[in-house]
Amino acid sequence: MHLRNSKIIVIKIGSSLLVDQKRKIRKKWLTSFAKDIKKLKTKNKKIIIVSSGAIALGCKKMNYNKFNLRVDKSQAIASVGQIELMNLFSQTFSKFNLNISQILLTLDDTEERRRSINAKRTFENLFQLDYIPIVNENDTIATSEIKYGDNDRLASRVAQITNADTLILLSDVDGLFTKNPKKFKDAKLIKRVNNLSKDIKDIDIKGMTEYGSGGMNTKLEAAKICNLSGCNMIIANGLYLNPLIQIEKNDNCTWFISKTSKLHARKKWIISSISPKGELVIDDGAKKALISGKSLLAAGIKKVSGKFNKGDHIKILDNKKKEYARGLSSFSSEEINKIMGRHSNEIREILGYISKSEVVHKDDMVEI
Ligand code: GLU
Repeated sequence: MHLRNSKIIVIKIGSSLLVDQKRKIRKKWLTSFAKDIKKLKTKNKKIIIVSSGAIALGCKKMNYNKFNLRVDKSQAIASVGQIELMNLFSQTFSKFNLNISQILLTLDDTEERRRSINAKRTFENLFQLDYIPIVNENDTIATSEIKYGDNDRLASRVAQITNADTLILLSDVDGLFTKNPKKFKDAKLIKRVNNLSKDIKDIDIKGMTEYGSGGMNTKLEAAKICNLSGCNMIIANGLYLNPLIQIEKNDNCTWFISKTSKLHARKKWIISSISPKGELVIDDGAKKALISGKSLLAAGIKKVSGKFNKGDHIKILDNKKKEYARGLSSFSSEEINKIMGRHSNEIREILGYISKSEVVHKDDMVEI
């Protein structure tokens, strides 16, 4: 596999690549990274960087320890550190005549369709202006219930929204191993994952959370999102100098190969939702109807859980509680509680107002 086939590349870097354990900024590394980016840019690649480091750099400046901070304090520190982070990029990248911009996103920005389309447009305009967007989560306002909390999944959602060809997660490990490499000497690096659910079935993911900043879990969650959006993903060790050239040269990393997705952009967005707000359990008859391409009607719904509004992302589970599809609900959970199991032509009378007849329209639904 080669990066040369990718037009749009999203690269995620973790805090540990920017600041070492002694809290020193890894300037030499960042310069080598900028050099790699310059190379990719001369080959006409469109680049987006998702960078952590706001909290780490804020703590460094203000002399705080990252590990015993209260959430509200860390939000204030992120606001200080984000400037430090962008200054660092600006100083280093300008040496290579690379223009940068900043985009701060919250979970809601990517989960709401209109806002995610706006973000996509901004990315496209920045490409046209020859600027490299540098993205981070807007830590200063993201509260614990509505935040990504890790930049792995944020980066995968950015890759999906921008229709990227490859997402590179630069981590502090070489990639995905058969076992935890810090515990087991015979752990082997898996270089290719062609079928995500099949190939990683036998790996003890739980034992993996200790290695890799953010852990392996969030990286595999990111891989799932990329897989559904038709985007390849790489986990590679970013600690080396020239980390992107290393990927091409040494191939000492894990590639998650995605099948080309035939889904329309909107459906890719629906299937990649990070935080579905609720679940609907449907009966066998409704499942049959969905398989044949029909919409979900109230009559086939057996149970609603969660609290959601019209337009929110929800999961559709079959009779055995297995996730069958994702979709956008045309009704709130409160309304569905009143109309489930009932015929569509009764809805108007039950609710007292005219509404759609499908609970999840087929155009708003994607099979898992
Ligand atoms: N957004 C956080 C920061 O800039 C980091 C999140 C992560 O490490 O994945 O410090």
